[in-house]
Amino acid sequence: MNRKSFLKSGLLSPFIAMNLTDFEEYVLGENAKTDNMPVLFVGHGSPMNAIIPNAFNKQWREIGDKLPKPKAILCISAHWETRGTKVTAMSKPKTIHDFGGFPQKLFDTQYPAPGSPYFAQQVIELMKDVHVEKDLDWGLDHGSWSVLNQMFPEADIPTFQLSLDYLAKPEDHFKIGMKLKTLRSKGVLILGSGNIVHNLGRMDSSNKPHDWALSFDALVKERIESGNFASLVGYRGLGASASMSIPTAEHYLPLLYVLGAKDTADNLGFFNETIDLGSISMRSIYFGK
Ligand code: ZN
Repeated sequence: MNRKSFLKSGLLSPFIAMNLTDFEEYVLGENAKTDNMPVLFVGHGSPMNAIIPNAFNKQWREIGDKLPKPKAILCISAHWETRGTKVTAMSKPKTIHDFGGFPQKLFDTQYPAPGSPYFAQQVIELMKDVHVEKDLDWGLDHGSWSVLNQMFPEADIPTFQLSLDYLAKPEDHFKIGMKLKTLRSKGVLILGSGNIVHNLGRMDSSNKPHDWALSFDALVKERIESGNFASLVGYRGLGASASMSIPTAEHYLPLLYVLGAKDTADNLGFFNETIDLGSISMRSIYFGK
């Protein structure tokens, strides 16, 4: 039952003495523990994946159909880098078209999901030693909505974003992911959105993957399967294929949040295990039941 139908149902009367904060806490918080939500890393690739049906977003739609409906979605997108860590806390996040040179249809696409001021506050509180600033200006960038437009097309799940602090070390990103893990038991879907291999300067329209792209993508797969996350946090020590695959870190770093939020009981699955345009890994990762 969603909040609106709960309010209409008449089941509210036992809670009539509660103030709104208590009520939200009951519906969304500690008293509403669920089975752990899965955690996803999605290789988002081209913004056009938001609107043109293809093999990549077919997988996104299928995953969306199978997932339990989240109470909220927390996106860590490659496309929101800030000084310090920020969390969006507005009730109506705008759809941000943070790209150029694409068809008007893409600029006309809106993803009108509500925000989640409640869970944004939860994130601020559970971080404790990491200062997280409340943000009311950003919204949903295409790292988030291009995937969610296919995965949850009804846009009815409260969705909010956590930024990437461009001054943080790789291990800091991983540690924030570890702290976010607790949100899973409250029904929050954590979605890291980037690309494990992302070198726009080496894209190849023949679609033939570069050897270094295949090599690094396979190495990341193997390290995830073997649970060697420390080497993935220390990706700068992984040699030439890593340097070519991660010329800038922002598309790789969302992976570290997802690895941090993994639970020992999780199963592991991969989808979209493809290199697109020679230098973009679409490999996506599922941790969950
Ligand atoms: Zn991107």
